[in-house]
Amino acid sequence: MTEPRKNEPKIDAEEVLGGIVEWVSIESPSHDAKSVNKVVDHVEGQFRDLGMKMDRTPGVDGFGDILECKTPWGEGKGILVLAHLDTVHPIGMIEKDLKIRREGDSVFGPGIYDMKAGGYIAYYAMRHLIRQGKKTKLPVTFMFIPEEEVGSPTSRARIEAAAKRHKYALVMEPGRDGDRVVTSRKGVGRFIMTVKGRASHAGAKHEDGRSAILEMAKQIVRIEGKTDYNRGITVNVGLLTGGTGVNVISAECTAEIDLRVPTPELAEEMVDWFLKLEPIGPDVEIKVEGGMNRPPYTKDAGITELFSKAQAIYREIGKELNDVLLTGGGSDGNFTAALGIPTLDGLGADGKGAHAAYEQIYYSSLVPRTYLCTRLLETLE
Ligand SMILES: [Zn+2]
Repeated sequence: MTEPRKNEPKIDAEEVLGGIVEWVSIESPSHDAKSVNKVVDHVEGQFRDLGMKMDRTPGVDGFGDILECKTPWGEGKGILVLAHLDTVHPIGMIEKDLKIRREGDSVFGPGIYDMKAGGYIAYYAMRHLIRQGKKTKLPVTFMFIPEEEVGSPTSRARIEAAAKRHKYALVMEPGRDGDRVVTSRKGVGRFIMTVKGRASHAGAKHEDGRSAILEMAKQIVRIEGKTDYNRGITVNVGLLTGGTGVNVISAECTAEIDLRVPTPELAEEMVDWFLKLEPIGPDVEIKVEGGMNRPPYTKDAGITELFSKAQAIYREIGKELNDVLLTGGGSDGNFTAALGIPTLDGLGADGKGAHAAYEQIYYSSLVPRTYLCTRLLETLE
């Protein structure tokens, strides 16, 4: 690393944190479009001040707006930087369990780790290059997603269309376990199973009833039995509703099921298995709807090469960058990677407690992570 000249701007941890705190101070649950758009306003203003070309698309289906900020320079396929501005935390967490506060190396706040810190780091990285009078070699598009935490239903098509126009995708989701980024993620499937039985009086006419709940119980045992840690498959029946009264044999029962798989082949196998499920007991009907919500993101040659570039950058500051083994959590990186776009994810701040009441980032990770993002933007060609 060459010594910075005296008057050259530095990546300043306090300054990075100050900017992150501004973003975190605006609470933005996915389903609250108005609140999400308040952060979008703030981010839009900041990128506009950098002289970026702005493109804001009004939200649909009760979600916030999609914001795209592009460098005014560069032609051809460039770098797509993805970040989401929504969080899982309801309004008011900031006054309760997740007051913005610093304790030693940890800084707490709603959505600070997942992933406002990462989004801000990407902004700061771009600003840092501009302050140094530098330009990226490739054009860069920053895309801010309003509803990633609910599966990006209104932005998926936009993300995929954008991915095809870019050479690389950098995803600013949380970093992991000390100097780790993400180079693969499991695919996520969602299914709804509905069982229809026959209602009857639980006392007087028990024998006439066909319990939808009983059938569902048998189905659940079968479904949960598909979890296979060795093959990386997990299945979870996470929501269950059914029945109308304790003295009524239940006519209907519904279950919502989450599936995680490491490869496209297993995704196909499992989706097929789910959609072909048959009743176990007599005189009941079952219906299964659903499929893959995020395709698996597998570490191919392009991703391996991009990851080694990131490792080389990290060595410039004397640090070793690693990747995590196949994580079960999906992100918008699944969409870009499944299209064959070299995708590096988990580039945000390190910390812990995503979605939890102890969500926090590590202050010590801010400078190295900002450096990594800055140099990726600067050097990718
Ligand atoms: Zn996230």
